[in-house]
Amino acid sequence: FSDIFRKIKYACEKKWKSDKNNGEKKKENVVVLGSGWGGIHFMLNIDFEKYNVTLVSPRNYFTFTPLLPCLCSGTLSVKSCKENVKNFLKKNNCTSNYLQYECTDIMYNDKYIICKDKNDKQVKIFYDYLVIAVGAKSNSFNIKGVDKYAFFVKDIEDALKIRNKFLQNLEKCKIKNYSEEKKKNLLHIVVVGGGPTGVEVAGEFADFVNKEIKNKYKNIYPYISISIIESGNKLLPTFTENISNFTKNNFNILNINVYTNYCVTEIDEYYFFIQSSLNQNEKKKKIPYGLIIWASGIKQTILINNFLKKIPEQVHNNILNVNSHLNVIGLNTFNIFAIGDCKIIKPLQLHKYTYEIINFLNTNNLNSNCLKLKSKELCKIFPQVSENKWDYFNNKKDNMNEIEFENYLHKIDLNYKTPSPTAQNAKQEAYYLSYIFNNYLQNKNNVLIPSFLDTWKGSLAYIGNHQVVAHLPFCEIKGGLFSFTFWRIVYIQLLLTWKSRLHFLLDTFRTRFYGRPVPK
Ligand code: FAD
Ligand code: NAD
Repeated sequence: FSDIFRKIKYACEKKWKSDKNNGEKKKENVVVLGSGWGGIHFMLNIDFEKYNVTLVSPRNYFTFTPLLPCLCSGTLSVKSCKENVKNFLKKNNCTSNYLQYECTDIMYNDKYIICKDKNDKQVKIFYDYLVIAVGAKSNSFNIKGVDKYAFFVKDIEDALKIRNKFLQNLEKCKIKNYSEEKKKNLLHIVVVGGGPTGVEVAGEFADFVNKEIKNKYKNIYPYISISIIESGNKLLPTFTENISNFTKNNFNILNINVYTNYCVTEIDEYYFFIQSSLNQNEKKKKIPYGLIIWASGIKQTILINNFLKKIPEQVHNNILNVNSHLNVIGLNTFNIFAIGDCKIIKPLQLHKYTYEIINFLNTNNLNSNCLKLKSKELCKIFPQVSENKWDYFNNKKDNMNEIEFENYLHKIDLNYKTPSPTAQNAKQEAYYLSYIFNNYLQNKNNVLIPSFLDTWKGSLAYIGNHQVVAHLPFCEIKGGLFSFTFWRIVYIQLLLTWKSRLHFLLDTFRTRFYGRPVPK
């Protein structure tokens, strides 16, 4: 494996040599792009004594995205899910810098980035290491009318806009002498996308409507309806079948209209159009709406799309590919890393190193067990061989010849799935990368840097009516009184500061005893 190892450590070795030549070792500049889950957790763990760290982001705060649906309904306030970046710039008497710029270009050969400030003035920032954590954008799939008429749920401002639009529609119906039909149309809330974001937003709105709106807007309440449209055959497709069914039943209780197997194909000012995903010959349906919320997944930012065009090996990709050490593939510089939603991991392919692996196993009987025994060492380079990723028990194979063994390795390669674009994974990647920076990059001994291995800790979703579903490594939770308490405990400990924990608790009590705020 010396070849592979040499490639990975190339950049560091070059740096050590130049350090030696320069005599005194200077602090290297690490530039972090993005103040989201990846960027901020990297900042929390990187050693400011070892590096000059600069955080660059147009957003001077961190958003705790899992709580955004609660902001749409008013269950929580902004203070529960927003943290100023200045909270993360000081550590053990050492400080780092924050620049409120948006990065527009990465000049990787010359080791600098081009940014623009609020007034569109261009600035150059030089780096020794660059950590890209710019996340992703909501994906409209270029569907006509989405960018113009739909509301995304990506950040705090988006959530507040959604809430304001709904309250404005309520007010209009209260004051103006609209026909019954017009009121029904204006108060039709539509959520597009039955993934966790869409489901949570629909659940939160149902709570808001069935409690505060029902009490305070008695005359208008009967005109309100909520629909969720999912192009696949079930809600929460990444959870279990039981959880999807439970969610659908809960939505029936909450009077949320669920349209599965329907795809939104166009939106205009007052109507949206849906088409059956199963039968393309079925006539399109035209449905009126008052508020349409778009939660159909993510796409890459302009920065990433432009960066891809500059890397010959990645020009045809639509997302940044990094190796198992989170190093951007296709650059000779080995000093640019990417974490979070802006990348996927493409580890080295095991089957292309069959010969080296056979030598490494040093056995006459090639079988799955001998691979398993060496998997801990091998997964430092090939994460797909780890027992977390490959089920050795159900894929036992004995007495393989070289070709069979190569095929077996190929199966392991194909089985590897890149970590999904979640906060959970962005955080794990940030902790991994900062650990590598703190412990390996400046280490002059030839030690092998371990690969990143994600650990799936489960997924949680609030589905309204105090019901929470959870798909956990060893069990699943389908609602129940305890589920909501469990959800709150998980989020309280995930919040980054005591200030936001306090606000989370205060908001929870406020909603419990006084309800969500509504205009008088
Ligand atoms: P982000 O957190 O999106 O941060 C990107 C940062 O980069 C931002 O600060 C942005 O301003 C900055 N940036 C963008 N462009 C530039 C540029 N050109 N230059 C400099 N900076 C730039 N995941 C879960 O695991 N559990 C959940 O419960 C969950 N709930 C969610 C709920 C909602 C409503 C949403 C939208 C997402 C949710 N997610 C959840 C997914 C999770 O939020 C993302 O996977 C996570 O935010 C990705 O982290 P990131 O650091 O890659 O990007
Ligand atoms: P998603 O990609 O998980 O789901 C989007 C859904 O929209 C898909 O099921 C897709 O079939 C559907 N869709 C796409 N186009 C459509 C169309 N034109 N008409 C109708 N339906 C359409 O997106 P998300 O829910 O925004 O989640 C994004 C990421 O954030 C995921 O990785 C998710 O796991 C994570 N997340 C997690 C949580 C949680 O764990 N509680 C909450 C929110 C987001």
